Amino acid sequence: MAGPGVSVRQLLERTRARLAAAGIQEYRLEAELLLQHVLEIDAARMFAGLSDSVPSKAETTLRRAADRRADREPLAYITGRRTFYGREFGVTPDVLIPRPETELLVDLALRWAAGRSGLQIADIGTGSGVLAVTLASEMRDAAIDAVDLSPRALDVARSNARQFGVADRIEFLEGDLAGPLEGRRYQLVIANLPYVRSDTLTRAEAEVRREPVLALLGGQDGLDVIRRFAPMLPDIMDPAGSLALFEVDPLTAGGAAETIAAALPGARVRVELDLARLERCVAAELA
Ligand code: GLN
Repeated sequence: MAGPGVSVRQLLERTRARLAAAGIQEYRLEAELLLQHVLEIDAARMFAGLSDSVPSKAETTLRRAADRRADREPLAYITGRRTFYGREFGVTPDVLIPRPETELLVDLALRWAAGRSGLQIADIGTGSGVLAVTLASEMRDAAIDAVDLSPRALDVARSNARQFGVADRIEFLEGDLAGPLEGRRYQLVIANLPYVRSDTLTRAEAEVRREPVLALLGGQDGLDVIRRFAPMLPDIMDPAGSLALFEVDPLTAGGAAETIAAALPGARVRVELDLARLERCVAAELA
């Protein structure tokens, strides 16, 4: 339906131009996503209705959203959504935005879990809860304890767990690393802890600097948090058979692997590559 107002096509072009001028690399895709978000339609409907006219209220909302993006606010904080492992999660500025490379941890966990049942899983530093919720969704008989230091992150994670109908199998605990898990043992421990080096963070893109520093910063060599957590592994891993998976910075994967191996005598420790062939995960197995 063509009307008197501005069309979807015109708005799309205007938004693309605005984002391109602001130096947003993926300005085409991001403009499309912003438009879909504001108009509450999917890509297919947007492209099928390029000549449709847009109500002026939506035009104003879109202009504000484009201003925020031009000001380097991450797209996921503007739309409040980010897809991880095929599911669309809610995100807020209280949580790290889920990254595609973190899906490697899910793949490795599922591969190890195949043929095992009734797993007890710990997710340390759950943030938005993407790892806990994805594992609970993919393994219908697993029980998960998800820990985070930030109560506001836990609110986001709880809401994601409810959205995907797995809240009854995830216990959310506020605290530092394995602190709240005393006396409990797990067959699977998964952790995407803060590992960005201070110097890397200072040089990071403006968008990354809008994310919670608590979720990113791993100190001078990036290993501070892993160094604190590794000695807790023997207390929470099942000695009869368990796997711990850490996301790591490819720059310091070797150091992370050494730290974990030293804390867990008898474990088989290996480094796994992500799709970009970067050393992205340290796996430690007790058999
Ligand atoms: N991969 C994230 C980044 O480089 C960091 C995630 C983390 O510290 N766990 O921005």
